[in-house]
Amino acid sequence: MLVLATHNAHKLRELRAILDATGALGPLELVGAADVGVAAPTESGLTFAENALLKARQVARACGLPALADDSGLCVAALGGAPGVFSARWAGGHGDDAANLALLLDQLRDVSDADRRAWFECAAALVTADGVESVETGRMPGRLTRAPRGEGGFGYDPILIPDPFAVTAAELTAEQKNAISHRGKAFRALSGAIRALWE
Ligand code: IMP
Repeated sequence: MLVLATHNAHKLRELRAILDATGALGPLELVGAADVGVAAPTESGLTFAENALLKARQVARACGLPALADDSGLCVAALGGAPGVFSARWAGGHGDDAANLALLLDQLRDVSDADRRAWFECAAALVTADGVESVETGRMPGRLTRAPRGEGGFGYDPILIPDPFAVTAAELTAEQKNAISHRGKAFRALSGAIRALWE
């Protein structure tokens, strides 16, 4: 059994799809932290990699099983990489997607189309039961719209048009997004370390 250090059901679903496509899970069952009675881990780091490792360590220690974690966010070039690790709480409360996105668009009102470069970034970490750590990162670059578009995805998906598409990440299918996403790239890079757990 492999535990994903999150209480977010959407993330668990997305990660299962990404890892199933690589065959990295083999016989391992991927469960969420809530499924093994472990509290949602805290994120007090200042980088994605630091946060991903913090979360995987907390869960691996708490349940004595290998743990996977990710930390991700939107980085805007014109804001020097912000909101970055603060993406989920940019407007104050944790995880208020609509408020986060509205605040960001407002802050970028005077930024020209040419300067609206941004990327999603993800760090994926694996910590084994005996404390061996691996971490990998991935990016999905693109440009920001001026208004949200699309019904799919979550978070800032409706305002990022990933390269080389002409539609937002919220207008892609889950398969299209996973093939190019920051999370897809980071976890595919980690698949060798996951496979080594059971091979
Ligand atoms: P995490 O769950 O701590 O990694 O928080 C990530 C935050 O970054 C989310 O709340 C979203 O606001 C944003 N984010 C990360 N990945 C994505 C994505 O694929 N699409 C849209 N927003 C994302």
